[in-house]
Amino acid sequence: MKDRFRITKLHTKITANSTIRKAVEFIRNSDIEPPYLLIDKARVRQKAHAIGRHIENSEVYYAVKANPDMEVLKLINSIGIGFEIASEGELAILESIGVSSNRMITSNPIKSFRFLRTAVEAGVDYFAFDSEAEILKLREYAPGSNVYVRITVPNEGSEWPLSKKFGVEVEKAEELLVHAQKRGLNPIGMTFHVGSQCTNIYNWNSALDKAKDLWDRAQKAGIRLSVLNIGGGYPIRYTKDVVGISAIEKNIGKLISDKFPKKTRVLIEPGRSVVGDAGIFVTRVIGKASRGDEQWLSIDVGVFNGLMESVGGIKYSYIVEGSREIIKWTLAGPSCDSFDVIEKDIMLPEPAVGGHVLILSSGAYTISYASEFNGFSIPKTILI
Ligand SMILES: *Cc1c(COP(=O)(O)O)cnc(C)c1O
Repeated sequence: MKDRFRITKLHTKITANSTIRKAVEFIRNSDIEPPYLLIDKARVRQKAHAIGRHIENSEVYYAVKANPDMEVLKLINSIGIGFEIASEGELAILESIGVSSNRMITSNPIKSFRFLRTAVEAGVDYFAFDSEAEILKLREYAPGSNVYVRITVPNEGSEWPLSKKFGVEVEKAEELLVHAQKRGLNPIGMTFHVGSQCTNIYNWNSALDKAKDLWDRAQKAGIRLSVLNIGGGYPIRYTKDVVGISAIEKNIGKLISDKFPKKTRVLIEPGRSVVGDAGIFVTRVIGKASRGDEQWLSIDVGVFNGLMESVGGIKYSYIVEGSREIIKWTLAGPSCDSFDVIEKDIMLPEPAVGGHVLILSSGAYTISYASEFNGFSIPKTILI
């Protein structure tokens, strides 16, 4: 078959050439009907190995919500890192593939009762919190457990801010650590999240300044801390280049060794950066229409069955099987809902109806967000 995919230098700057080649090869040799998500195993392995390399005493816990596919989890488990979980569903799938609870932590500051119960039964012993109410819940369901407080940190420059939802200021965090200890819990440290897809390296600087302030206050209050959990947030390339993981970690590693005691355990919880750029969605064009002065292109994956993050501002790169003529499109998903618009004013070569559209860097927060709204099935995940 003639190669009709319009692959440019821009594409290979976003996604490794080897990953794109594997995907095209797979499409040519497979009669599986799109849509589906391909995950390049070699890329996941490479990313998982790279994370934590430049931070001393670091431990890596993959944030399962980024991509909880069973085969993906088996692959990550084989690398030997841990897992960050937030629900009984994530716990159950990890247990089913033989992950022991001492390799799981949970950093959601508010846990459902059912999850807390099942996590404690399973032996999970690391929990985040940021409120009095959660301390009382932990005292009841997880007495004596290891707990760390979540602080708010600046999220500027991250494309998916998370600090608005969770975390308290340093003064309050100190109070909460003291209360946790009084209630018989074991306060071991603190956590923060700089925001997902964080392209601003200075977010970690200000976060670590705050963490250091809290660390010193806690020591003065008589609490011996040992754990600094720096959350996730490492970025991947979607349409632009981003600062690399090793540069981010060299900065973090230096700041931590300058500010914190030597034996501090540093927990890292990457999600997006482990699986994101290993994923390529294989979709097909199901329609083209001229409406008013807009050219509409409809594909079989949309906001509801895989591309939810496009609504929050994530912009993807696309490889189109099609002509050389580049046109401005409104790109839409398959459902009848007018919310199901992936992107407006996007320049792409004109594909034929029935042709393929590949979506790069789509391994994280795609399938895990997908629903069967309007009866469209969730694309399956295939490891290559
Ligand atoms: C989502 C989440 C992560 C992963 O964040 P990424 O930006 O995907 O790396 C890590 N820790 C916690 C607590 C989270 O909620």
